[in-house]
Amino acid sequence: VLSVRNVRKRFGDHVALDGVSLDVHEGEVVTVIGPSGSGKSTLVRCVHQLEAIDGGAMYLDGELLGHEFHRGHLRPLPDRRVAAQRGRMGMVFQQFNLFAHWSVLRNLTEAQVAVHGRTTGRAREEALRLLERVGLAGKADAHPGQLSGGQQQRVAIARALATGPRIMLFDEPTSALDPELVDEVLSVVRDLAAGGMTMIIVTHEMSFAREVADRCVFMEHGRVVETGTPEEIFDRPGSPRLRAFLSRFS
Ligand code: ATP
Ligand code: MG
Repeated sequence: VLSVRNVRKRFGDHVALDGVSLDVHEGEVVTVIGPSGSGKSTLVRCVHQLEAIDGGAMYLDGELLGHEFHRGHLRPLPDRRVAAQRGRMGMVFQQFNLFAHWSVLRNLTEAQVAVHGRTTGRAREEALRLLERVGLAGKADAHPGQLSGGQQQRVAIARALATGPRIMLFDEPTSALDPELVDEVLSVVRDLAAGGMTMIIVTHEMSFAREVADRCVFMEHGRVVETGTPEEIFDRPGSPRLRAFLSRFS
């Protein structure tokens, strides 16, 4: 589904991604772990085209992201095409990023209508179906401020699902939540995994990273240091750096 090839990203002098490659296959759940500043957020933000990359390439279903060939040269895609590519991915942020002055329903219908050209009736139907799926049937007319953090994050997940994404990208979806609200969000993510959704999940919840993953990636200093099955990563870490990182959690 997704292929990331030797991607580089700098912020001024600072190299945030130093040649990252990663493939995510249909139905696969890849969790990304690593210390603060290792480039985990930058990676998913680049995939979602919130950041422009400085080198390498990314493909979604074989289609180059962000650029196209024109008379033998690469040129940036027009905004409308970038928006369409982004609509084929669903991103969930630590801070929910819901529109506070819109109802839950409008948060879920807007992109369906604006990016995918659905009728409001069809968008509404899909929104209500997704709210039910994340356990929030009946909250369509609430505003985000009237919901708990866990409920807001479930709305954000429903919103990301509303456009029928090929892949879901999660950047620490539970980091901003009170501990008692973490589980309701993780169980929604678990359900998505069980339903075969393709996902990249950046998380510092090590037990969750292990349990939900088909494959786990350890990043440090803008590089993928180690990748493997959860058993390989958590039970038989190969590199000293990964062992040192994991020892902080035990
Ligand atoms: P955390 O676990 O704390 O979320 P992370 O692995 O997600 O860390 P990133 O946020 O990807 O790390 O950051 C990687 C590096 O790039 C860090 O050194 C960070 O300071 C830097 N960085 C990220 N975004 C920017 C930006 N917009 N401008 C300048 N530097 C940035
Ligand atoms: Mg981060």
